[in-house]
Amino acid sequence: MKILVLGAGVIGVTTAYALGRAGHEVTVLDKADDVAQITSNANGAQLAYSYAEPFACPETLKKLPGYLLGKDPGISMKLTGDLGFYRWGLTFIRNCTRARETENLHAMLTLAAKSSAAMQQLARELPQGIMSQSPSGKLILTRTQDELNAYGALADIKENYGLPIQMLDKSACIDVEPALAHWQGDFCGGLYAKGDSVLEPIAFCKALQSVGVQKYAVTYKFNHDILRLQMNGGSVSGVVTDKGVFDCEAVVLCLGNDANAFLKSIQDKQNIYPMQGYSLTLPLGDHPPQTSITDPKNKFVFAKIGDKIRIAGLLDANLPDTEIAKRGQHLLETARKYWPGAANYDAEINLWSGRRPMTPSSLPIVRPGKIDGLYYNIGHGSLGLTLAAGCAELITDMIAEN
Ligand SMILES: Cc1cc2nc3c(=O)[nH]c(=O)nc-3n(C[C@H](O)[C@H](O)[C@H](O)COP(=O)(O)OP(=O)(O)OC[C@H]3O[C@@H](n4cnc5c(N)ncnc54)[C@H](O)[C@@H]3O)c2cc1C
Repeated sequence: MKILVLGAGVIGVTTAYALGRAGHEVTVLDKADDVAQITSNANGAQLAYSYAEPFACPETLKKLPGYLLGKDPGISMKLTGDLGFYRWGLTFIRNCTRARETENLHAMLTLAAKSSAAMQQLARELPQGIMSQSPSGKLILTRTQDELNAYGALADIKENYGLPIQMLDKSACIDVEPALAHWQGDFCGGLYAKGDSVLEPIAFCKALQSVGVQKYAVTYKFNHDILRLQMNGGSVSGVVTDKGVFDCEAVVLCLGNDANAFLKSIQDKQNIYPMQGYSLTLPLGDHPPQTSITDPKNKFVFAKIGDKIRIAGLLDANLPDTEIAKRGQHLLETARKYWPGAANYDAEINLWSGRRPMTPSSLPIVRPGKIDGLYYNIGHGSLGLTLAAGCAELITDMIAEN
């Protein structure tokens, strides 16, 4: 089948690869001049299958007033004139019950398990080194025994999905990651997921692009601004860009935060809201970690990517762009305070900021769209890199079934 994939972020590139491998004639369109130029660019690089959990839960609901009043240094949500924020917020609140949290958790873990298996398959198909450039394992630090127990309560559920996590006390955490001996804050233990790992998103997208082009004749058209869908008798027949019309039999929408601008032309709107985050990429310090370390209190993660450390995190809604440098500085100073040996904080600061396309449930929207021949693979929020491979297979299966 002749298929257009709209968007060359990690979701579009992974989807195009899976469709090409399934024997389709695939063209990817993007307005940028290369893959992974927007939200997929310098994210936290985590393949965090074992931590695929919804943001909406009773505990988050309790903290919401603090986020709105600017009391939490890690998460800030400002009021805005954009009604989309309130529509999103109301649905988010409805997802904060324990019952909805549990339902969303199971759905996310199903996707995570599928993605983990699909990513292992990709590792066998891509050039060696791409998927194994960083050591595996992820550790979430907990400040109190109650916090450790709360995370640990999910261990059995995760085990059932083939995503085991271990509860470790402080000294066992330091055995797993000796550089934690230099951590300057309190922690009583942590949750360790041996199967989680680090994947540099640009290298991954470029490898998928290159193998997809060579092996499955996937075509990439950059610098093409996608304008709208072209239809024939109620079905998709093509996509109109600023450089002309591309005919097709099916379209997969992977436009991240810009999905709704495209959907306007068919009077559709999905509940996706951009939530800003930040990353710093720095040279290694004197005691760099080998394992990914997440500090939920400060809302950031440390990941070793080759000879660099990436520190990523924070979550802001409706923050003006003029505040980006300030938030980057906050990330830098907090990381330096808690883990002075992890990175060389005095080197040139490589600050990046991106907006997670978040849904209220944290579940991505992976399903057929409003028009015959249109499919959605959008709303990947905080876990697009982690869930990309499984969602690409889901879309490929849906197209095969229709
Ligand atoms: C700070 C931060 C840290 C993160 N860390 C992690 C992590 O550790 N692990 C993880 O799994 N996820 C992480 N994420 C989330 C992850 O980065 C996203 O879920 C993912 O990048 C979304 O990918 P996407 O392809 O949907 O969107 P994008 O990467 O934004 O791709 C959308 C593409 O559509 C194109 N486009 C848009 N409009 C048009 C148009 N009109 N015409 C043509 N092209 C268009 C854009 O150019 C872009 O290439 C993080 C996100 C942030 C912000």
